[in-house]
Amino acid sequence: ELTRWQRALRAQFPIITAHPELAYLDSAATAQKPQAVLDTVHTYLTTTNANAGRGTYTWANRTTALVEQTRDRVRRFLADPAPERSAVHFTSGTTEGLRTIARDWLPRLLADGDEIVVPDADHEANIAPWLEAQRELARQGVHIRVRPMPYQRSSGDYDHIALAELAGPRTRFVAATHVHHVYGGDMNIHRIRRAVGPDAVICLDAAQSVGHLPVSVADLDVDFVVFSGHKALALPGTGAVWARQARGPRFTPGGWSGSPNTVGIASLATALDWLDAAGTDRIERWTVALAARLTDGLRHLDAYEILGCQSSLAADSSVQRRQGIVTFRHRAIDSGDLGFILFSEGFMVRSDQHCQGSAGERTGSVRVSLHVYNTAEEIDRLLAVLASLG
Ligand code: PMP
Repeated sequence: ELTRWQRALRAQFPIITAHPELAYLDSAATAQKPQAVLDTVHTYLTTTNANAGRGTYTWANRTTALVEQTRDRVRRFLADPAPERSAVHFTSGTTEGLRTIARDWLPRLLADGDEIVVPDADHEANIAPWLEAQRELARQGVHIRVRPMPYQRSSGDYDHIALAELAGPRTRFVAATHVHHVYGGDMNIHRIRRAVGPDAVICLDAAQSVGHLPVSVADLDVDFVVFSGHKALALPGTGAVWARQARGPRFTPGGWSGSPNTVGIASLATALDWLDAAGTDRIERWTVALAARLTDGLRHLDAYEILGCQSSLAADSSVQRRQGIVTFRHRAIDSGDLGFILFSEGFMVRSDQHCQGSAGERTGSVRVSLHVYNTAEEIDRLLAVLASLG
């Protein structure tokens, strides 16, 4: 039943169906777009295109309404329980979203002697902005302490015991990632909340979870969710910040002073409609099963080492489980070379380094990242090629 459902969805991605000999396995970098999103882009640009927030004519008004409606669409997609209080700000991606919070909002939260927690093996986009905010505050005479949030190498999860020890009454802010872009597991965000208490602000880098699994801000109990639209089936140059506004100063989204990416925002609204109709719970089941198929196959091949999350199909939700990202290395073949070899066989993967922070992997690796258009047949073909390399 799930297979039939998937076949119908895969057929909606023209770039995928046009190249049956290729396997796109790099969705963590950016996702392919379904026909509905392509149609929206064409329709918007041929019927409505105008700037938003200005003008008194129909196209401009429609575009302004589209931007506002898409803010509500983002709220609904994230199961926002109090949409009248939250804010949604459009960005070019996760990097810009995190930067915006660090530059415009975080300094208003912090006073001399406060502490923030920053994971040292996350994506660079979730490290550099917070350190920059610390330096900027220091220039103004406000000294805050950055506590690195450690990892457990064996599981790819945060070290929650260490976090509970380092969190204290001055811990105001925690930067965390929902699904790790190298280790592939979903991080236990509930344990972070328990460790830091009810008053600390949690900012979630959801670049690898939005569009891949249900993301409910009510369930997660976080204050910011930052994601990339382009990894969630929308156009390149799209992303959003959702801010709950329950703790700390208000987050004021950039007003109408600049020109927003209107066609990108239109594509995001359609992408979120498409994802909701497909069912993010089913997308998760599909990609988790494919990732499990790959890790199970790799475990039988002695030449490979799998990084990060080891539990592929944990039913117990308190145990971290692997989402649709599998990173591995060959014990003898350089990862950059392995990437080339795989592409010569039609597989598009990410190889070598993965924009990871200072405590991240220093040795290169190959990352396979999945979305709803990938198939078990692609995984089996990949495993056959990997097996042939010893
Ligand atoms: N955070 C994580 C976890 C990511 O995987 C990525 C993208 N690789 C980013 C942030 C940055 O996203 P973007 O390039 O859309 O700004």
